[in-house]
Amino acid sequence: MNALPRSVTVHSASRLLRIEWDDGSESALPHALLRARCRCAFCTKAARAGAAAPDCSGVVLTEAHAMADAGLNLVFSDGHRRGIYPWAYLRELDEGVS
Ligand SMILES: [Zn+2]
Repeated sequence: MNALPRSVTVHSASRLLRIEWDDGSESALPHALLRARCRCAFCTKAARAGAAAPDCSGVVLTEAHAMADAGLNLVFSDGHRRGIYPWAYLRELDEGVS
């Protein structure tokens, strides 16, 4: 399944990223989870080097930029803005939560 998003909304009060997919389903992803699961080169390298997972509980999402087919570029309140989350990965994360 390769669904694309119909709309992406950042909710600050509930700290959720909501994605409405073109197949009618909806995902709600906590900001802290997204930050913790960043797969950018920097975070992947830190994890491989055995760095402890950072405490992301207080981190919120400040911006989300859709990058067409590539996915979503997310900007977090801790200044991290490198992560690009492929659409399929975002769906996978949502299924992991529920
Ligand atoms: Zn990262």
